[in-house]
Amino acid sequence: MLRNLTFQVFLAAVVAVVLAHIYQTIAPEGTVFIEDTIALLKNAFLSLLKMLIAPMIFFSLIGGIISIGNVVRLRSLGGVTVLYYLTTTGFAILLALIAVFFVHPWTDYPPAMEGVSLEGSVRLLEPSSDSIIAVLGAMASLAFTNPFSALAQLNILGIVTNALLIGVAMVLVLKEDSPVFRFVEDVNHIIMQILKWVIRLLPIGIFAILFDFTIRLSADSGLGGSFLTQLLEFGLLVVVLTLIHGLVFLPLVAWITTGTSPVTLLRKIARPLMVAFSTSSSAATLPISMRTAEDDLGVNNSVSSFVLPLGATMNMDGTALFEAVAAIFLAYLYGIELSTVMMFTIFLMAMVASIGAPGMPSASMSGMQMVMLAVGIPLEAIAILLVIERPLDTIRTSINVEGDLIGCLVVDRFVNGEPSRVA
Ligand code: ASP
Repeated sequence: MLRNLTFQVFLAAVVAVVLAHIYQTIAPEGTVFIEDTIALLKNAFLSLLKMLIAPMIFFSLIGGIISIGNVVRLRSLGGVTVLYYLTTTGFAILLALIAVFFVHPWTDYPPAMEGVSLEGSVRLLEPSSDSIIAVLGAMASLAFTNPFSALAQLNILGIVTNALLIGVAMVLVLKEDSPVFRFVEDVNHIIMQILKWVIRLLPIGIFAILFDFTIRLSADSGLGGSFLTQLLEFGLLVVVLTLIHGLVFLPLVAWITTGTSPVTLLRKIARPLMVAFSTSSSAATLPISMRTAEDDLGVNNSVSSFVLPLGATMNMDGTALFEAVAAIFLAYLYGIELSTVMMFTIFLMAMVASIGAPGMPSASMSGMQMVMLAVGIPLEAIAILLVIERPLDTIRTSINVEGDLIGCLVVDRFVNGEPSRVA
């Protein structure tokens, strides 16, 4: 159990909060050395994460576009599959945005971080930019920036636009066996490896971040307790919404399009869902998903062999839903007002970030930073999510995998033009 990262993160969080309280009792005036050391650890960890954002978004998006492009180019059904995936992800984000509009339990308490300086956060749009022409103008000048300056300045819209254009151009211009495709794939593997190292340091990062938060919050405003309640309420809302999407919306889609009863379906796909739950990785679950699709759902191999790998790359309903709720939650904590245009930006960014996120544990944390940057939430806020992120990743990964499997079933039904063979 001690070797399990989720457990280590949980332990680090508990130890940090307990030690911070003991520390405040023993040294109410504070100790410069201890606080400086903790701040050093925290800042080093956040800088490590920040270091990866630009190259990771850039290359994983190009990689995503290449796989989507190759599928669409090679298979006549590629377009249908991509459209299906984008639509269901769009519904997941919409569910999140609509639900949060009505249910936002964390607003029972004042914004814990209001007043914290937003300096250094790159705001994509000003909340006051309500004139659509002004908004479009601001977006265009950010989007159409040369790739080097976009990467260097962490201009998310510029990075995304450049990655999309370069990815599409590569698919159109290069031959299938071009070494450039291989190059992008290899760079993505390298970035993934570095991310894995950084994630191994998560317990230390979480410890420093939480210790720092706890002493700052209780010293500044006595809000420490309510902050944790807000965080738990946020987590609970994400779980409920993810389950609604996974247990109601997706099975309903399968039922309407293939006539498969929700109970039968969930029973048949239980195994890959459990593997996804325990590994927090859609990519690692892929072999089990393939077997389930073919053996238990009766999907033709020619369909599953392209719909599932594509889904593991680009279709992450649970991730997109999490990112949308998280952006609104963090904006509240920092007292950032969200205009309609910004909500729309969250929708688009959550969609792009979920397509770009690789199917591995905590992978969406990088894309999350992209959503945050787009609405002007300071990057250090990622620390708040990291505290609760691990347990939520288990559930959202299961829903990501469920989305892929149901997509596979729906596309198979579309190909065969007959009711699915699921008993
Ligand atoms: N762990 C997720 C997956 O593999 C990605 C994420 O949301 O972090 O699907």
